[in-house]
Amino acid sequence: MTSTLAVIGGGVIGLTCALRALESGWQVTVFDNGERGRASWVAAAMLGDLGEGHPGEERQLELAHESGSLWPALLAEIGAPGGDSLQTATETLFVGFDRADLDEFARLASTVWTPDDDVAVVDVGELTLREPMLSPRVRGGYLAKDEGALDNRRVVQALADAVIARGGQLVTRRIDEIDEMARAGDRHPDQILLAAGIDTRRLCPRIPLIAQKGEAVRLRAGHDTSPPPSAVVRAKVHGRDVYIVPRHDGVVVGATQYEVADADDLAPRIGGVKDLLDDAFLVMPGLREYRLADITAAMRPATPDGLPVVGRLDDHTLVATGHGREGMMLAPLTGALVADLLDGSAAGSAAVSAGRRSTFDDLSPRRFT
Ligand SMILES: Cc1cc2nc3c(=O)[nH]c(=O)nc-3n(C[C@H](O)[C@H](O)[C@H](O)COP(=O)(O)OP(=O)(O)OC[C@H]3O[C@@H](n4cnc5c(N)ncnc54)[C@H](O)[C@@H]3O)c2cc1C
Repeated sequence: MTSTLAVIGGGVIGLTCALRALESGWQVTVFDNGERGRASWVAAAMLGDLGEGHPGEERQLELAHESGSLWPALLAEIGAPGGDSLQTATETLFVGFDRADLDEFARLASTVWTPDDDVAVVDVGELTLREPMLSPRVRGGYLAKDEGALDNRRVVQALADAVIARGGQLVTRRIDEIDEMARAGDRHPDQILLAAGIDTRRLCPRIPLIAQKGEAVRLRAGHDTSPPPSAVVRAKVHGRDVYIVPRHDGVVVGATQYEVADADDLAPRIGGVKDLLDDAFLVMPGLREYRLADITAAMRPATPDGLPVVGRLDDHTLVATGHGREGMMLAPLTGALVADLLDGSAAGSAAVSAGRRSTFDDLSPRRFT
């Protein structure tokens, strides 16, 4: 008889894991409380390991790099026929507004980026040639090839469609306790995967997830405005970060990140939104003419050591969460790891990804017990 898997959480992580499990022959049901992948719906969805690189976070960079290499195949698998692209950019411009902002990027270039990374210095002239919407007041920057962005909402929808197309089931239902499915009279699944983003800590309090709230503002281009930029623009404006991420019809502006105690507090903080827009308008004044599409906030599910939690809790339960600010980026690697664990080939360490072997013990939930 086919083994059954129940996935709790239908965000990018739960859906990617569901897809991989279906491909390994599991019968999969995804339970989601109807919020359509709360953080996944809000995310800017940059696929940038360099942009997220910080000194001391080499392991995060390594994971992001590995997962990034798996995205093209996943996109090809779930993409709409006819090439309706789920990807909205393939490059990133890092731009500084003043000398100190540029120095900050130079520090990143010397401490985090390596000669193997495809990053080049670009002067103001080239920057404005590449992105005419950029303010001439920008002082210079760097171009990172292969650091693009996805349309997160289309990706979540495409993953859900792919799960259904492969015989998976999506059920709109909130699961408050792991054993609820058995008590509700359903056939108890052979395996359960907890992938409920920040709410995983309600289902499994021993995982010390931290709620890192962030706002994102979506702006739509109009018939009388400049078209959206073609590259992701990650700017520093007098020390503050702002990113402007292309969509087919506009941009996502984001970068706020702060810890909150109440993970249900999803109302966007107006001061954060104001800062984002002030900085975005300095970097690209033409965005002032764009139309406001929506303002949303969500919790990035983070961990104390900055690494995701992917592994076994017991013989019947797995967990995949804690991806913090890189959950979109890390989804394909997480899906591959969970499929390995389900297939029993990963008793603590797994081998995934094209030709590159890695161990993933450091992602196990055991580190918190
Ligand atoms: C403003 C912002 C910008 C971001 N930008 C980027 C970026 O550029 N690049 C990047 O890689 N990442 C980015 N992220 C991070 C990324 O969005 C998250 O790491 C990722 O979406 C987490 O996915 P998830 O599936 O674990 O959680 P979620 O997307 O939150 O999905 C969890 C799902 O589980 C459901 N659920 C919860 N509890 C239950 C329950 N009890 N029963 C049933 N269902 C339940 C929720 O409703 C939700 O649908 C950003 C996040 C934010 C907030």
